[in-house]
Amino acid sequence: METQSKMIEITKTKNSRINEVDFDNLSFGKVCSDHMMICDYKDGKWGTPQVLPYGPMPMEPSSKVFHYGQAVFEGMKAFKDEDGKVWLFRPEQNFNRINISAKRLAIPEFPKEYFFEALETILKLDKDWIKPGKGNSLYIRPFVIGTENGVSASPSSEYRFIIICCPAKAYYSSPVKVTIAQQYSRSADGGVGFAKAAGNYAAQFYPTNLAKEKGYQQVIWTDANTHEYLEECGTMNVFFRVGDKLLTAPTNDRILDGITRKSIIALAEDDGVEVEVRRVAVKEIVEAAKNGELKEVFGAGTAATIVPFLGFDFNEEYYELPKVENSYGSKFKTKLQDIQYNMAEDKFDWRYEVKVD
Ligand SMILES: *Cc1c(COP(=O)(O)O)cnc(C)c1O
Repeated sequence: METQSKMIEITKTKNSRINEVDFDNLSFGKVCSDHMMICDYKDGKWGTPQVLPYGPMPMEPSSKVFHYGQAVFEGMKAFKDEDGKVWLFRPEQNFNRINISAKRLAIPEFPKEYFFEALETILKLDKDWIKPGKGNSLYIRPFVIGTENGVSASPSSEYRFIIICCPAKAYYSSPVKVTIAQQYSRSADGGVGFAKAAGNYAAQFYPTNLAKEKGYQQVIWTDANTHEYLEECGTMNVFFRVGDKLLTAPTNDRILDGITRKSIIALAEDDGVEVEVRRVAVKEIVEAAKNGELKEVFGAGTAATIVPFLGFDFNEEYYELPKVENSYGSKFKTKLQDIQYNMAEDKFDWRYEVKVD
């Protein structure tokens, strides 16, 4: 059967690669599914989106994105339930956020109907790449790049919006130890920390490598001015459980407004857990670790879902976190995944069904 779409041009692959993929041994983001979407912006408007076989695309070396980093992205997941139905989780949030990110980088906004039509078209074609079972998903990576040729430092007049998909299992295969940033910063007031701008991640790699040399997989970033307040970690927002309270930093122009973060806040409050969204001082967390009040620290983001941290380093001192029964981390991960995989009631209306048949 031909796939019908009003607004998209579709070219199906003649050679699916799905049988070459070992779905039990995926390394995150390495393998892409059969199809991708590209849509070009030129002469002040977006052209017709095209869904076509995933593959390389020629670009001129002078393309602006290579020189000035005009690039923003999103990360979302498609889940399959036991009946073969396919679900997205709060996709409007991703759509809104990529346009918020784009605006900050002087990139034109992408039309909503293209975004959803393209997603649904790809997911329909590549539905067999989405495996059922908790932990399995198809990671979806929409992104936009400045494609005008010419190395002058000015915003591109041409862009390409692309969506690629990668089958995924768990993101971090081993438990995570983190270090608290005291020298380097991820973002600053008035900057682009709130945007999923490609350059934010490039700037984290070097300090994160230094942390890795010391045995820490990630850095918890602190505010750039004083390094006294905890912000976020890699591509995750961070939660601290002190006693029975859950603490997390408020979002602002330095911190990414994570969808997993806001979903955990809602689930925790619904569960009667007290959540304090406020600045969290390094001092306070170190004190709580010393006096035994600090029960858990975990990261939260689409790629990783919820990752409990084993412990953290501050000032060359390592604080090991206790092993707690019924941790908030595992409880809210279960609740979140039960909603994502259509295994629980969706009282917040977060699930979005993609018709794939
Ligand atoms: C993507 C990301 C997050 C998590 O956002 P989600 O919407 O939950 O995936 C948190 N922090 C940073 C810096 C990120 O890039």
